[in-house]
Amino acid sequence: MNITIIGAGAVGLATTVTLAAAGHKVRLVDPAPASGATHHAGGMLAPAAEVVYQQDPLFPLMQAAGQWYPELLDLIAHHTQLPTGHRTDGTLVLAADRADAEHLRNVQDYQAAHGMTVERISTREARTMEPALTPRLAGAVSIPGDHQVFPRQLAAAMLDAARNLGVDIVREQAHSVAGFLKENGGDADRVVLANGLGAAQMSDEFSSALQLRPVYGDILRCAEPEPQQPLVRRVVRGFVEGRPIYIIPRSDGTIAVGATSREDGRQQPRAGEIYGLLRDGIRIVPGIEECDLVEASVGARPGTPDDLPYLGYAGEKIIVSTGYFRHGILLSSLAARVTRELIEGTPVSVDVSACAPERFAGRS
Ligand SMILES: Cc1cc2nc3c(=O)[nH]c(=O)nc-3n(C[C@H](O)[C@H](O)[C@H](O)COP(=O)(O)OP(=O)(O)OC[C@H]3O[C@@H](n4cnc5c(N)ncnc54)[C@H](O)[C@@H]3O)c2cc1C
Repeated sequence: MNITIIGAGAVGLATTVTLAAAGHKVRLVDPAPASGATHHAGGMLAPAAEVVYQQDPLFPLMQAAGQWYPELLDLIAHHTQLPTGHRTDGTLVLAADRADAEHLRNVQDYQAAHGMTVERISTREARTMEPALTPRLAGAVSIPGDHQVFPRQLAAAMLDAARNLGVDIVREQAHSVAGFLKENGGDADRVVLANGLGAAQMSDEFSSALQLRPVYGDILRCAEPEPQQPLVRRVVRGFVEGRPIYIIPRSDGTIAVGATSREDGRQQPRAGEIYGLLRDGIRIVPGIEECDLVEASVGARPGTPDDLPYLGYAGEKIIVSTGYFRHGILLSSLAARVTRELIEGTPVSVDVSACAPERFAGRS
């Protein structure tokens, strides 16, 4: 089939590579590929550690996405030499004080009740695994199954794979979806709308029913001084006086320290937020103090009212695939697989009925 995909973030790119490798003729439209949330993301593939209370409908999607990730990575590796930053060292989650330790225990019970593998370990064990951790810890768990990619590398690798698969990459902004379809003068049999927050701004009628809001996240990139490398090997997450923090090591000697969550519309890194990330990061891994601060940036997560993505048909030939909020790097494997199944008319491997794109139509 002839397929046009609008948006080349993690979701559009994974979908492009999957469909092109399956033999479809794909065109990918984006004025600035991988410039959205994907550029700023931490890249944790964390179906367990990212569990949030009352988001039960999300868990099966995140778990399926985690299981399908290796398949997506294999496919990418088959079509490019570029790295994705995929690492399987696992994740530690730490508590800074006694109240945080209580919270960690409650989260762990909740995770275990949902069948996730989370191991309580002593703080001494945590420090043996990661000697750079502070000795002042009140609790620790290990989540060996939560992995990571480096989203900027992943996106570059998928873009290269798409080129190698003969995808037509058009660096333009799309204004409507319908115009790409055959019956309206275009040449596509199907159009996939995968342009993150941009999906709600298309001129097509269905677009106005997509309630999307930017949830801003400040995130830092620090370079470890050579004698300290690697400061940590695993993803280190923590709760510090109730505030979440994460530290993600990259293979290039940098670490990401993130991320805030705010809906104030301000698009520059905010000084107070950066201060908070550094304070809490240093509390868990004191060696961060010695690092060079290379970058502070802000990304806008595409949030939906119920935190579930929009994934499904909006009309006969248009598939909407957006609203992946905090988990779009992880969920890109699911987005790509389900979109291929929807297009090819094969059974869909996971129940996405709760993700219907029109579910908020008519509600303000
Ligand atoms: C600080 C931060 C940390 C995060 N950490 C994680 C994490 O650890 N793990 C995880 O799974 N997720 C994480 N996320 C969430 C994740 O980044 C997003 O859910 C994901 O990137 C969404 O991908 P996307 O492809 O849908 O959208 P985007 O990455 O926003 O890409 C949208 C693309 O569409 C293009 N576009 C927009 N409008 C148009 C148009 N009209 N025509 C053509 N192209 C258009 C843009 O140029 C852009 O390239 C994080 C996000 C932030 C901000």
